[in-house]
Amino acid sequence: MSHGYLIDMDGVLYRGSEMIRGADGFIRELRRRDIPFRFLTNNSQRTRRDVVAKLARMGIEVEEQHVYTCAMATAKFLEKQKPNGTAFVIGEGGLLTALHHHGYAIVDHDPDYVVVGEGRTFNLEMVEAAVRMITKGARLVATNMDPNCPTQNGLRPGCGAMVSMLETATGVKAFSVGKPSPFMMRAARKELGLTTDQTTMIGDTMETDILGAVQLGYHSVLVLSGGTQRETLRHYAYQPELVVDCIAQLHELLDHHEWQHGRVFRANRGDKLDAQIAPSIRFPRVEARAAVGSM
Ligand SMILES: [Mg+2]
Repeated sequence: MSHGYLIDMDGVLYRGSEMIRGADGFIRELRRRDIPFRFLTNNSQRTRRDVVAKLARMGIEVEEQHVYTCAMATAKFLEKQKPNGTAFVIGEGGLLTALHHHGYAIVDHDPDYVVVGEGRTFNLEMVEAAVRMITKGARLVATNMDPNCPTQNGLRPGCGAMVSMLETATGVKAFSVGKPSPFMMRAARKELGLTTDQTTMIGDTMETDILGAVQLGYHSVLVLSGGTQRETLRHYAYQPELVVDCIAQLHELLDHHEWQHGRVFRANRGDKLDAQIAPSIRFPRVEARAAVGSM
């Protein structure tokens, strides 16, 4: 049966400008085996081409078709909702390019939508303008609601933090298109041309990658190379199917099971756990129960 992957980037393939060990080898192996994949990112700053260039600098060779950003999903969503509309944008190149590509004009008066994405262009003048537009009837759309993003130097505020400011000022709730929204998760899966059961999401964030996968019925793999620690898993009512330290460990596990994707998930449902090949891999629900019981 065919199988494919939706792969988060930040915290899975790299942290800041540093590649996470094994990311290049894993992607090379997917390509060698002709396994379909898309990089699924809630960062709207970069265009597809920018992402390909950034990955190439790290030694990860992919094409533009492998990249699916929340900026692309947002532009596609707006085109569906109101073709040839107008938007006031707080965001950067990736978002502006995607909106143009989907027939949107960027304006600074009476827009149909105020659209907020990641970026460093955010300032109070823009916030004031956006607040006035929203109170006059422009609809508020966020590329994603991530509260913050990990960088090499610690956290920086994410799109969600900036959107909260507009929501508080106007009393209007934003519609968010990025992960875990079904709009983006489903659109990316459709690009792979696979069914839900043939799709696995690999990510480092419970609130976006894993929640989205669980809600849409995809297989899910949590990597601990980004923002999530193993100890925090028991606080969540939903769990990933598999937890690995990093993508290199997933590669090792898939090798061990001769890339029979289904076998990897079945083998980790507690009964056939192979402690020798990957000692830190556990089925997390077992851990969650043990942790609660020991309290
Ligand atoms: Mg991430």
